[in-house]
Amino acid sequence: MKSPAWLAGYVESLDFPALTRYRSDCPVCAKKNTFSVSDDGLQRMWYCFHADCNVSGRTGITLTKDHASKLFEKQMTKQPDPVSTSFELPTTFVSLSRSIDAELYVKRVQSYDAYLAGRADIRYDFQRNRAVYLIKQGNKVVDAAGRSLDDRTPKWYRYGSSKCPFISGTDLRVACIVEDCASACSVSGVVTGVAILGTNLLPEHIETLRKFQQVYVALDKDATDKAIDMVRTLHSHVPTKLIILKTDLKNMKKDERDDFIRSYIDR
Ligand SMILES: [Zn+2]
Repeated sequence: MKSPAWLAGYVESLDFPALTRYRSDCPVCAKKNTFSVSDDGLQRMWYCFHADCNVSGRTGITLTKDHASKLFEKQMTKQPDPVSTSFELPTTFVSLSRSIDAELYVKRVQSYDAYLAGRADIRYDFQRNRAVYLIKQGNKVVDAAGRSLDDRTPKWYRYGSSKCPFISGTDLRVACIVEDCASACSVSGVVTGVAILGTNLLPEHIETLRKFQQVYVALDKDATDKAIDMVRTLHSHVPTKLIILKTDLKNMKKDERDDFIRSYIDR
């Protein structure tokens, strides 16, 4: 939905401090607690994550003295996000090389190059028999997602409660949203792979994706509708395009996959 003209003024008038977030019922669609506003010290960005509404936008740059000094303070002190401190690495995580099955899995799903190159930190959880992809914000581990190496369910287990995406790569030019951690690793030689690890795009994901110059959505072919919805939602925050997959990324050979991704981003 397009933001009504009065919404920017409304968002500006909200009384909450710079560099924090605000959450409320949506002033446009009136759904409960779906309206999120973040203030980065320069601008306020709003977003309603109810699918029927998805109203979003940003205010003009309003660098008030108060905002500027708080932004400066934050840059100087670099306070960790509250979520960053709440995850402790389980003691059952050991080096990937301790399990042949885990290493074989990582090779099979095309994550091994990313692992060797340091674009992904992958461990073995001997208690749950899972190959575990560590989810980081900066250098800090905030969560982990583990793929079972036997028949146990769920196939993917989320260890923490962060809403952070799994990211493989550090290049802030092009991000590619993919289905899972393995696919994120598989594309990371060419672009930064981002796995949102769930079905829905959350405000936290949008915050992360906004930092890139260009975003592509490349979900498996049975999720094309979902991918189109995602492109629509993201489009008002960051330039976003759809990549249509014929084969799952992690089932392609390395050269085939890299060429395929490049054929999109070089257009
Ligand atoms: Zn709404």
